[in-house]
Amino acid sequence: MSQSVCILGATGSIGQSTLKILLQHPEKYSVFAVTAYSRILELVEICKQYHPQVVVVPSNKVDELRQYFKNQHLNHIEILTDEAGLIAVAEHSDVDVVMAAIVGAAGLLPTLAAVKSGKRVLLANKEALVMSGDIMMQAARDHHTVLLPVDSEHNAIFQCLPEGYLQAERNGQPQKGVAQILLTASGGPFLHYDLDQLKNVTPAQACKHPNWSMGQKISVDSATLMNKGLELIEACHLFAISEQFVTIVVHPQSIIHSMVQYVDGSTLAQMGNPDMCTPIAHALAWPERIQTHVPALDLFVNHRLDFQEPDTVRFPALKLARQAMQSGRLAPTILNAANEVAVAAFLNHAIRFDEISQVVDKTLNHVENGAANSIELILQADLLARSVADQIVMNTGS
Ligand code: NAD
Ligand code: MG
Repeated sequence: MSQSVCILGATGSIGQSTLKILLQHPEKYSVFAVTAYSRILELVEICKQYHPQVVVVPSNKVDELRQYFKNQHLNHIEILTDEAGLIAVAEHSDVDVVMAAIVGAAGLLPTLAAVKSGKRVLLANKEALVMSGDIMMQAARDHHTVLLPVDSEHNAIFQCLPEGYLQAERNGQPQKGVAQILLTASGGPFLHYDLDQLKNVTPAQACKHPNWSMGQKISVDSATLMNKGLELIEACHLFAISEQFVTIVVHPQSIIHSMVQYVDGSTLAQMGNPDMCTPIAHALAWPERIQTHVPALDLFVNHRLDFQEPDTVRFPALKLARQAMQSGRLAPTILNAANEVAVAAFLNHAIRFDEISQVVDKTLNHVENGAANSIELILQADLLARSVADQIVMNTGS
């Protein structure tokens, strides 16, 4: 029977890649709902091609959308709005699979709603898990939710872990013969830049990733290596492993997407051309495999695989994220909120590239790290950290 899919963040990079795969398998999947925050014209194009039953947009976009729907004879599509609309489609009883691909903290409540409704959840929105790790993982256990990582590294780790790993009793220690996780990082576009050069890089340069084509925020995160920091936290939660068992390995070719090292000396790697359609298809079809348009890896072309240690002096975000994971509680939420503010400020030319990590560091020092045992506390800390980070950005102004 065909599976009914809801795509949170359908107009984004992950959303578009997901739609591309669904198009290839019309007998397996149908699109029930799509959501967009901006780019309304692109949403209309998606509606024309995929015929969803429901769309979700911000209330201030409804008039514009209705006009387009009228012109395109799409009036039968139901329009829901804002966060309430996102939550409604994420937990809708007609939905089997939710792709959580909103960027940033805005995706937290809809993603959590999907997890609590026990559907298959394909998790791209790493910020949601970074903020609410323990709560989201507990909700997945309570509701027997199949929560599958879409982030290419975590999807690779998931593929390399032994069977039954996630069901085994765990307490932060690796289990079932696993010794450690090797989380690979491309190193981003500025891998070889020195500290002075890093002061002068522009948003356009930061958004031009050497291997992946992604949304703006994650592109900047990849350039500062905060993306890898967020992924370290993501891995600790997804695989219930302490951060000291996650080693970051810079691998500029992005052919190995991550590895699992075992106590017997084995290291298993998942490899492939860097295209998000592979992990998305894996998570959609798991435990089966479905075809994608991604060409098979040609090792005679991609004949070099290099590795190096990350440099936390030039890329301090990595150290900040590891420390936040060690501190636990609200620290990852504060880190994430400050980073979202700092990245937006950098994209608006309000601060320099190297100041992004400085804003995050200062915010972590200014906001008290309290208990994170409810979503309300997490959302409060997110708001507070954003206002503190905003203030720091204003005082930074380059
Ligand atoms: P993107 O910027 O291309 O798309 C983001 C989507 O979220 C868009 O559909 C946008 O309309 C929606 N959105 C933005 N702000 C919103 C808000 N306030 N409320 C509701 N919707 C909102 O981002 P992306 O690159 O597709 O990344 C999406 C998520 O997937 C991020 O969390 C990112 O870290 C993660 N991810 C992306 C990639 C990638 O290759 N792009 C890889 C791994 C993980
Ligand atoms: Mg990734």
